[in-house]
Amino acid sequence: MKTLYFDTAATTAIAPEVLARMLELLGGECAYANPSSAAHLPGQAAAAVVASARVEIAAELGCEADEVVFTSGATEANNLALRGIALAHAAQGRHLVTSVIEHKSVLACCAALQREGYEVTYLSPNSAGWVEPDAVARALRPDTLLVSLQHTNNETGIMQPIAEVAELAAQAGVLLHVDAAQAVGKFAINLQKIPIDLLSLSAHKFHGPKGVGCLVVRNRRQLRMQPLMHGGGQEFGLRPGTLATHQIVGLSAALSLAAARRATDLAHVGELKRRFLQQLGCLPMQVHGEMARSSPYIVNFSIAGIGSDALINQLRSDLAIASGSACSSGAVEPSYVLRAMGIEGEPLYGAVRLSFSRDHSLAEVSAAVERIGAAVSRMKELEISEVK
Ligand code: PMP
Repeated sequence: MKTLYFDTAATTAIAPEVLARMLELLGGECAYANPSSAAHLPGQAAAAVVASARVEIAAELGCEADEVVFTSGATEANNLALRGIALAHAAQGRHLVTSVIEHKSVLACCAALQREGYEVTYLSPNSAGWVEPDAVARALRPDTLLVSLQHTNNETGIMQPIAEVAELAAQAGVLLHVDAAQAVGKFAINLQKIPIDLLSLSAHKFHGPKGVGCLVVRNRRQLRMQPLMHGGGQEFGLRPGTLATHQIVGLSAALSLAAARRATDLAHVGELKRRFLQQLGCLPMQVHGEMARSSPYIVNFSIAGIGSDALINQLRSDLAIASGSACSSGAVEPSYVLRAMGIEGEPLYGAVRLSFSRDHSLAEVSAAVERIGAAVSRMKELEISEVK
């Protein structure tokens, strides 16, 4: 029996169309040169490939091509946004605002900045899983440099009120960074319409290759930023190192494909999630986070009396899903995201995440539900299910 993969929030498979474009480029003769080798024709050909990918990405996101800074993914983009702004603007202020439910690449970067003398205000979400715009407004101070808020939470799928926060940050003259790793490709994000200053994304979350992403830096020419690394001055001096042409092409191809398919994909995953919840509804389960604000790509739930680790262990070879808890040095750490929403006890230790994609069929969703149901029955029979 083939393992059914329902962990697309962790990563997706490369789309065949994207792979074809990457392979064409990797195997071809026209663009293997260094895109920075402007002195010769092969270098210029590679530079042209990168330039057109940049234009394609910018057109999709509603920004200028020279505001797209290629990175290794969202982790690096998040670090570049936070540290790059904090270091360059230290004379103006040393205060940042973020939330306790951010991805570790934001939280760990903030913790590092705190050790270097910056102050960070961490906002808590409400019990529905989102940070209230009023809380952001109250946290702003005259020395606040930046607000960093995710678009869509990777564990719960809850979408944050980015448009409202963007308006209030713009009015207060504070920069806004949005970690959109779980949103770009899935939802239309038009930077012409929302005043977001910095936006992070990772290609592998929307059927592109791993190891490439970008930070969009709006008004880059006017905005002071420091690079994380020092080197050859590529990416407008913000991210040195030889550009990975094939990865960049993979990113732009994946984004264009996602844009072309957006309405179809959204309707499809919406139906997958609806059917999943309907079919699993025969078990005593609880969905975490506010349905109306949750991404159709992600569902986070607990089944009464069933511990997440025991369930995932039972499903090991049948179904690839994620646990809300992380096991570090032998101890199970429950999800800090769910905990921040006030979820404790059984629902906390029982939380699991399924994430959908355009590649799933309704039949696979039914099979996933069947496998979960069978695992729960086995666990009840064997009495190995109880949440401690
Ligand atoms: N932010 C969010 C919300 C994510 O889900 C992820 C990936 N789990 C990242 C940032 C980091 O992306 P990457 O590992 O591709 O750098």
